[in-house]
Amino acid sequence: MTIEEPEGAAISVPSIKAPKTREGIESLIRKLVKEYHSPLLLILKSVLNKQFYSFKKKLPYIEPFYAIKSNPHPAILKHFVSLGCAFDVASAKEIEWVLKAGARPKNIIFANTIKSETDLQYAFDHRVNLMTFDNELELYKIAKHCPKAKVVLRLKVANIGSVVQLSLKFGADPEQATYLLKKARSLGLQPEGVSFHVGSQCTNINNYIQALETSAKIFAEAESVGIALRLLDIGGGFPIKYFDSEDGTVFEKMAVMLRKEIRRLFKAYDKLRIVAEPGRFLCGPAGILITQVVGKAFRDNKYYYYINDGVYQDFSGIIFDHCKYEFKSLKRGPKLLCTIAGPTCDSLDIISLTEELPELDINNVIYVKNIGAYSCASSVPAFNGFAPAKVLVI
Ligand SMILES: *Cc1c(COP(=O)(O)O)cnc(C)c1O
Repeated sequence: MTIEEPEGAAISVPSIKAPKTREGIESLIRKLVKEYHSPLLLILKSVLNKQFYSFKKKLPYIEPFYAIKSNPHPAILKHFVSLGCAFDVASAKEIEWVLKAGARPKNIIFANTIKSETDLQYAFDHRVNLMTFDNELELYKIAKHCPKAKVVLRLKVANIGSVVQLSLKFGADPEQATYLLKKARSLGLQPEGVSFHVGSQCTNINNYIQALETSAKIFAEAESVGIALRLLDIGGGFPIKYFDSEDGTVFEKMAVMLRKEIRRLFKAYDKLRIVAEPGRFLCGPAGILITQVVGKAFRDNKYYYYINDGVYQDFSGIIFDHCKYEFKSLKRGPKLLCTIAGPTCDSLDIISLTEELPELDINNVIYVKNIGAYSCASSVPAFNGFAPAKVLVI
């Protein structure tokens, strides 16, 4: 997607109801390829709704702040504004995008613990005053540029089993928490609460439980030094399903445990403001990437299909997000071992070495579901002259 000219990147199409069956999806794909060609990244608003409301339903007293790094497409941001969702941003540019989409400053958390001074000033100038931090020097920067800001201490927590580690370069040691919260207060800031991130695509509920236990201890310690914390931010990490064969109830089970643990550990949880920063969970399942075969060869006893999207574009999640996808073709037939590669002249641009698909020919369609998160968001504009997919939000 073109980040600088976001409006132009989306083709506006009258709302289409999301098809549920494979036949329905595939007939929509056929229609769209005829009309718009490929590569196309289809974002289904009905699935954004489904994810948002299932989050609200399963975690009723937790306010979702959509982590826009997972997919900052302007039409998605506007859609979440219309649903009343809040936002997690990491930079001045992301603040600009969500404000442009219509978000209110009070519904934004600046959740990058390391912020540049110019970005902090931008936040202050645009009345964004809720932000995370994890070290002392950051507090001085915040106090200088965003006086009286509400600050949330990001803790270092276990990321065991999560596909993407997010505690390697962020998070304060819990032992330092009280010191840092006191320091914030002494600098005229408002120590508001505690946050953590258990790692992205986290299927290990113990990461959340341990992080909640640590947070509860810090709430008690802070109280003992006269700091009344009001906000608990349980971060992102909520997992989605990538393959049809996977269990689709992991999030639901996790939500049940989360509610139970929060009730157990935070007796006054109903007086607490509890927020979360889901990214992948809200936008991942809404994306379908539609590509076509542009070349074919036979090497190492298997077919190589070269398609018109690759790891520099919308399959960037393979590199940056360690993601594995399920590839499907419109064509049916006996399946044969194959490799799927992207269009650039780089050998890194291999999407999958071993897939099983029916024998395909030039222009045949390969598509991938559940690819709304960490796909176009981390693509590069035009490596080798190959642009990412057109984004179609319907
Ligand atoms: C990336 C990130 C998120 C979103 O994580 P998901 O796993 O996509 O839910 C939330 N908060 C912070 C601070 C992040 O860095």
